[in-house]
Amino acid sequence: MEEVGLATIEAAARRIAGSVRHTPVERSASLSERVGVPVHLKLEHRQETGAFKLRGATNAVLSLSDAERKRGVVAASTGNHGRALAHAAKKAGARCVVCLSNLVPANKRDAITALGAELCVVGRSQDDAQREVDRLVETEGMVPVPPFDHPAVVAGQGTIGLEIVESVPDVETVLVPLSGGGLIAGVAAAVKARRPRARIVGVSMRRGAAMQASLAAGHPVEVEELATLADSLGGGIGLDNRLTFRMVRDLVDEVVLLTEAEIAAGMRHAYFEEREIVEGAAAVGIAALIAGKVAAGGPVVALVSGRNVAMDLHARIVAGANSLEEAA
Ligand SMILES: *Cc1c(COP(=O)(O)O)cnc(C)c1O
Repeated sequence: MEEVGLATIEAAARRIAGSVRHTPVERSASLSERVGVPVHLKLEHRQETGAFKLRGATNAVLSLSDAERKRGVVAASTGNHGRALAHAAKKAGARCVVCLSNLVPANKRDAITALGAELCVVGRSQDDAQREVDRLVETEGMVPVPPFDHPAVVAGQGTIGLEIVESVPDVETVLVPLSGGGLIAGVAAAVKARRPRARIVGVSMRRGAAMQASLAAGHPVEVEELATLADSLGGGIGLDNRLTFRMVRDLVDEVVLLTEAEIAAGMRHAYFEEREIVEGAAAVGIAALIAGKVAAGGPVVALVSGRNVAMDLHARIVAGANSLEEAA
């Protein structure tokens, strides 16, 4: 599959410039003091639709031919990608079908239907949802736009890397939430092209870290999908992964895994110290710093990836719950 390099990411940045927000990078006084080096937060949870996935989805939709746009787009998604694709498709006047597993929270489903997309809820895993996507591609000729393993999607997410280096030219360490690896693959390609000495650190939850298990095995493997506070990091990387496994293996320097309690502490820090409401998946960079799990050469940029958390769950976490079980 086609390589995603700097030129592809710069082209994506031009293509999506009028359709997505250029999000701020802000220095965190409390984290800088805590870690002892300058720490900045890339506030991508303030992206329209509440997560960075709008960048990749918009780049993919704007890259379609007229004929493809008419047939419509389809994806399996743990939530934020589906929401982003629905938004991008609506703007482009294309039909959009989103397939989800039963593990996806109701607030994320509602957000997708509110954007005018058709929803199909199937099975207990990302893989079950993916089989329904394959069927719609086969029977209705729809165009699949997967959440991470696609060059246009990776290039779109990579535009965040360009913005990070623009804002913090001497960045040494970039902390990136890691699931299927579309985000970190694009960000790593962009950051390393502009600043080769920067280290890229992926952060996942211990409960079901599919990319970490795959890197350890040397090839894509399946892991059991478990409920986690970082629900946007759930799901596999695909046994037939074509792009992101290879890019992550080649470009990412280290992967750190977090417990549920560490993720909860990251969400509380974001709320009380930074005054930001973020979802579990988005808090993992902050959480890794607080837990002392990254040897962070500075300046550090932690990418804050989304804010689509159920507010009743968020309230219980900030009140002190350390897991989904404690918050129930
Ligand atoms: C999708 C998502 C991630 C992980 O992105 P991948 O490209 O799958 O690694 C992280 N944070 C949020 C909020 C997400 O929606």
